[in-house]
Order: sequence, then structure tokens, then C-alpha cells
Amino acid sequence: MRDILVAGNWKMNGSSAANAELVAGIVGGVPAGDGFSLLVCPPFPYVAAVVEATAGSPVSVGAQNVSEHDKGAYTGEVSPGMLKDLGCEYVIVGHSERRSLYNETSGQVAAKFVAAQAAGLTPILCVGESLEEREAGTTEAVVDEQLDAVLDAAGIAAFGTAVIAYEPVWAIGTGMTATPEQAQDVHRHIRERLAGHDGTVAAKVQILYGGSMKGENAAGLLGQADIDGGLIGGASLKAADFLAIAQAAAND
Ligand code: PEP
Repeated sequence: MRDILVAGNWKMNGSSAANAELVAGIVGGVPAGDGFSLLVCPPFPYVAAVVEATAGSPVSVGAQNVSEHDKGAYTGEVSPGMLKDLGCEYVIVGHSERRSLYNETSGQVAAKFVAAQAAGLTPILCVGESLEEREAGTTEAVVDEQLDAVLDAAGIAAFGTAVIAYEPVWAIGTGMTATPEQAQDVHRHIRERLAGHDGTVAAKVQILYGGSMKGENAAGLLGQADIDGGLIGGASLKAADFLAIAQAAAND
């Protein structure tokens, strides 16, 4: 059985004081049980403080983005080695906001995935379709293109130390959630596509759902066979909301 990963993407929110309160609330309220783990992904400037505040707790820390380059003249960028140096374990790559607002291509996302792994970070690869793409019936084709770019660049074995997040763009920050069945259909498709390359890797990789996940809908989503956790935006900004999802994971 795969463990469940409950990951919070704080996006560009927070402050030193607010983060300290949020982390203290999460660390102090981790549900009892096993078979699940918790992760928070603060903005870059707060990574070091959050690593310190979570030290010795079961909560891991990740970043929301990373450069595909190791070092050099890339003003404003942050390298995978720097994140590792700060104590990050995970990094999100290819979030739909990066793809749409900052024009990140699937090729660039694949390069970030490879660079993150080379530095010892676990990439969380986000894939997902827009509403127009879903309505046009191209959900699987869109997800395949995003996945295949990484398979081509990194190979199937790389998914042995990676996480995938299926995040339908139309469900992110909109309050619209994919039904458990809609999400499961795409999760199953992703796992089957990976299984076409290596069944053992496909069976082990965690595939998270992201898109307006909250305490009220988490149990239904996490109860699906191929849904192994959540990547959570809005509901990760309040300890009680995030912990309600963690509790659903602990109950699963
Ligand atoms: C996200 O940003 O990855 C996300 C899923 O956001 P929300 O939970 O707010 O929809």
C-alpha cells in the first residue's frame, strides 16, 4: 500500500509571524496514526525559518519552484542545491500557475524535475487540464504530453523518487472540486501510462489530487484507489483546515 502525502502549497502568502503561528498549529496538531505524512511548501524567503520550526516534527518542508540551472547568472532564480542546503526535501515543479502565468513549457518543467532530483530533492510534478481542454475531451492528451516530457527527459526509473500531482486547472482556487470519480479516472490513467513503461514503478508512485481539496471532501477523494494524497492551496493556510485533511488521511 502507498502512504498518503498531504502537502500544503502556501503560494505567495504569509509573513514571519503568520507562518510561525501556522506551523506551530500544524506541528502541535498532527493526527495520531501512520501511513501518511505532511509537507508544507512556503515561499522561498521563509523556507529556512519553516525548516527550523518543523525540525524534529513529522512535517517536511518543500519549495514551490526551482531553477533548472545549478548556478550562475540567473538573476532572481533559486537553484536546487540551495533548496537542499536549506533543508528542503521536496519541490513542486510545473504548477499550473507557473505554466500559465510564467509560460513554463513542459520541456522546462522536465529540466527542473531532472535538476531537482540531481540535487537530492523529490520533485512533485503537477499535471492537469484547463476547463476548455476538459470540455474538448482532451484531458488525457494534455496530461500525457506533460507526463511524457518528463518521461523522455528523466526516464521511468526517475518516478521511483518522485511524486505526481493531478491538478485540474479548473478546480484550483475556484471552489470547484473534481468529483472523486473524475479524479480517480485521471489518476488511473496516469498510473496506467507509467505502467506501460514499468509496472513496479507505477504501482509505487504517489499521485496526489489538487484542486479545492478541503476537510469536507478529502475523505471521498482519498478513498479512491489511485489517489494517494493531496496538494492543497487555500486550505493549507489555516492549521485547522490543513489538519482536517490530515485527519482524513489518518483515517483512510
Ligand atoms: C494548488 O494551488 O495547488 C491548489 C490545489 O490550490 P487550491 O487547493 O486552493 O485549489
